[in-house]
Amino acid sequence: ARESGRNQWVWYANEMANLRESKRDMARRIERALKNDEFRLHYQPRYQLSGGQLAGAEALIRWQTAPDQWITPDRFIPLAEENGLIATISDWVLKRACEDALAWGGDRYVSVNISPIEFRTTDLVQRVANVLKESGLPATRLELEITENVTFEHPQQALEVMQGLRSLGVRLTVDDFGTGYAALGYLKTFPFNGLKIDRSWMKDFPESQQAQSVVAGIIALARAFALTITAEGIETEAQLNQLKILSCEEGQGYFLGRPMPLAAFSTLLERTTQN
Ligand code: C2E
Ligand code: CA
Ligand code: CA
Ligand code: CA
Repeated sequence: ARESGRNQWVWYANEMANLRESKRDMARRIERALKNDEFRLHYQPRYQLSGGQLAGAEALIRWQTAPDQWITPDRFIPLAEENGLIATISDWVLKRACEDALAWGGDRYVSVNISPIEFRTTDLVQRVANVLKESGLPATRLELEITENVTFEHPQQALEVMQGLRSLGVRLTVDDFGTGYAALGYLKTFPFNGLKIDRSWMKDFPESQQAQSVVAGIIALARAFALTITAEGIETEAQLNQLKILSCEEGQGYFLGRPMPLAAFSTLLERTTQN
């Protein structure tokens, strides 16, 4: 028994070493990818639901490892959050997104996902200020989406960072609302401008009465905090119509437009007259 326990320990130690090795490996791969320019941004259009205007786009990162091979963000963003490379990735995304959005005209915004982990340090404010200055994009045309399914380790620090970002003029949105920890206190404490209803709530919406009540409830809640409401994951016309009836302000989803490379998004913009 003692022998097998020992073997188990050896096995465990080896596994841990492998895991550490593969994490280090991943960190190196991400660093190399940044150097080799393997990351791409796709843009998914966001529409005003009442008038149908193209309001802006969300920037979504992709990692292209070969001409027809992609790694989705769900697979490498969590690793980058662990190995400390997330800020480097975000800096790349912010720079690219702000430069791209400058050409979009009007007051169309670009929305960038920022990991809650990055709210641990105050340098996020400086980094965003720098990218705005260097790109020339007005701060009001940049929105940052912060997922609520991870708690802030240091809420007071996060609050200060958010206040700093708000004073730059940047808009802040709660992402994935209804999946994690965010509740009334969260919406009251942090200075958000907008709220995105998580796409899991669209699953049996509008057929299910329960889903309708929840979505209507979130919209009412957001309104109580004067937040702009966006529904994501709109895949059907029925969903779109019902969201309009519920006075949801903005929408995003495959039914309205898939994430696409910059060139395709620019073509979409050319075909759209801003009014
Ligand atoms: P998210 O921020 O909730 O982004 C929306 C995700 O839903 C995107 O997946 C998008 O392609 C997908 N989506 C959009 N419309 C529909 C729809 O109608 N139906 C369905 N089923 N899906 C839809 P994607 O691009 O794979 O991104 C996954 C997640 O990775 C994002 O979720 C976000 O949390 C993270 N992510 C993406 N880009 C970045 C980034 O630049 N930085 C950080 N920190 N996270 C990112
Ligand atoms: Ca998002
Ligand atoms: Ca998310
Ligand atoms: Ca989301």
